[in-house]
Amino acid sequence: MSIDIRPENRPPGVEGAGFFATSLDTVVGLARANSLWPLPFATSCCGSEFMATMASHYDLGRFGAERLSFSARQSDLLMVMGTISKKMGPVLRQVYEQMAEPKWVLCMGACASSGGIFDTYSVLQGIDRIIPVDVYIPGCPPRPEQVLDGILKIQELTKNESLRRRNSPEYKEMLASYGIE
Ligand code: SF4
Repeated sequence: MSIDIRPENRPPGVEGAGFFATSLDTVVGLARANSLWPLPFATSCCGSEFMATMASHYDLGRFGAERLSFSARQSDLLMVMGTISKKMGPVLRQVYEQMAEPKWVLCMGACASSGGIFDTYSVLQGIDRIIPVDVYIPGCPPRPEQVLDGILKIQELTKNESLRRRNSPEYKEMLASYGIE
């Protein structure tokens, strides 16, 4: 069986005899994008699709993100999947706050994104009411291919993010709008 291994495309930079120079932002972004440590916050059925994404057929490890973390302090990608009740909201927010910067949030499925079919008094109508979200994955449930697509979109964000973004007034203002310091 042949294995098709393709290296990451070389970032833009300056090349000469025996050297290649690029920006620090680019190198750090490349490293971050290919070594995401997801924290799966799965409460219901969407979590099963995530399990399929982790298994051998879809194999999230191909994207460097197979190292799941169940500790908020050792993860940089919060993946929220499933129905989030209003009672669960403060727990989710605490998990988000415990994660160190830089961190990203992937919101998977109709329930986490908008409450889905559960338009009831007890269900949070979208996690973006309590924490900022970077990428949404639509569907009920989304297929593993969609989860992989969401991860690729997170990778694009991480690759292209300036190292200064997290210290910018705009970022702090965005967090403040959620009541997060
Ligand atoms: S979006 Fe659909 S599959 Fe996902 S948790 Fe909600 S009901 Fe279940």
